[in-house]
Amino acid sequence: MIDLKAFEVWFVTGSQHLYGEETLRLVAEHSQTIAASLNSPSQMPVTVVFKPTVKSTEEIYSICAAANNDKNCIGIIAWMHTFSPAKMWIGGLKILHKPLCHLHTQFNRDIPWNDIDMDFMNLNQSAHGDREFGFMVSRMRINRKVIVGHWQDPEVLQQLNGWSRSAAGWNDWQGAKFVRFGDNMRYVAVTDGDKVEAEYKFGYAVNTHGIGDLVTVINQTSDAAIDTLIEEYSDQYTLMPSLLKGGEKYNSLRDAAKIEIGMRAFLQDGNYKGFTDTFEDLHGMAQLPGIAAQRLMAEGYGFAGEGDWKTAALVRAMKVMGSGLKGGNSFMEDYTYHLDPANSMVLGSHMLEICPSIADGKPSCQVHPLGIGGKDDPVRLVFNSAAGPALNASLIDMGNRFRLLVNEVEAVAPINDLPKLPVARVLWKPYPDMKTGCAAWILAGGAHHTGYSQNLTAENLQDFAEMASIEFALIGKNTNLYQFKNELRWNEVFYQINK
Ligand code: MN
Repeated sequence: MIDLKAFEVWFVTGSQHLYGEETLRLVAEHSQTIAASLNSPSQMPVTVVFKPTVKSTEEIYSICAAANNDKNCIGIIAWMHTFSPAKMWIGGLKILHKPLCHLHTQFNRDIPWNDIDMDFMNLNQSAHGDREFGFMVSRMRINRKVIVGHWQDPEVLQQLNGWSRSAAGWNDWQGAKFVRFGDNMRYVAVTDGDKVEAEYKFGYAVNTHGIGDLVTVINQTSDAAIDTLIEEYSDQYTLMPSLLKGGEKYNSLRDAAKIEIGMRAFLQDGNYKGFTDTFEDLHGMAQLPGIAAQRLMAEGYGFAGEGDWKTAALVRAMKVMGSGLKGGNSFMEDYTYHLDPANSMVLGSHMLEICPSIADGKPSCQVHPLGIGGKDDPVRLVFNSAAGPALNASLIDMGNRFRLLVNEVEAVAPINDLPKLPVARVLWKPYPDMKTGCAAWILAGGAHHTGYSQNLTAENLQDFAEMASIEFALIGKNTNLYQFKNELRWNEVFYQINK
């Protein structure tokens, strides 16, 4: 999987020369203590690196330039222990293009009522020092995260942890490559979009390979490699009898394994972080990749069906953000509804390709007809998904901007067995309620394809959207349609003005 510890966030403390050596020595000491504490493995998924206090325009510019150029640095946490006159920050902030988190904290949690004197006041100035810094960041209209509270406060640590995950997801997109096997599903609108603008805005490239390029690689797969992979399938999943050696569909399993091996080789060779395919363009392939797409997703590749490159890239970013957390992230589609007024819910699924990282229990490996596409029956993993808080995220191209739309949902345990449904599935109830949640989603132009997450929060995705400087819209517990419609209208004006 993706190891976030390889990435660094730099802990940068601002000050000035005014205070003299003793105060600056304490500033450095305190900053080091905070950085070291944040860096303990239980606190942050990434590595926190202490940087010497910056005290002048030149030092601030240098640290920002260095952060930009360091490929392991995914963002800066800034804190003004003392007062750091913010005109000194203009030059540095102007060039900084890594995510910024302003930690509004203080070294001591409590006021030392009996001992507080002017030396203490001279040193512990973040209550006003951070406001001077905050003004300049706002004055320059720079997106950043502001986290308030003592640096040992669990809530603060949780927010820092989340922000650094978003920064890791954002960093992962920079220079990333996604491949589309074939084009978009014919005539479909929401899965398409402006790939040039996406590369400019998001930093990743999306390019297409004709399906023949992939088929060539698939056809190079050796029988021995297929045997090995089938053993792995037998270890990890419950195979239905027809897929066992000697069974009538054993050859379908071999075809599926061959496709998986070929796809993995293609992705590794091209250094891709994700891919799309479409059931309409499988020329030369025996079956639609089902188990292949599912297992590649579980390895960390982004994926979405029908040429949906935006969702494939989003799923990849979500996997990076959620790395190491309990629960998973998957490509998802709102498939069908249960409209019982007393218990309304959505059944989420896809033709095949749901990531087993969200499986509850051991998946079963099955083969069934697909019904569309005219190819052999595809092999797929079938499973249920656990109950609990989750969300759906959709990245859409509104023509003049990208919008990241999130709906918080509550996944529910399967209420029935679904013995004839041969695909992985999830049941959920959208917040704030079924009718409002679905209406808001449709009004916002949200896609039928999403990234489904069991371990990310709306705040993670909001931070991510701010790093990307794109619109973020949330449908959550407090959403009401009147307010939400106005928000969309007002955003329309904002993004026209703020081009
Ligand atoms: Mn679909």
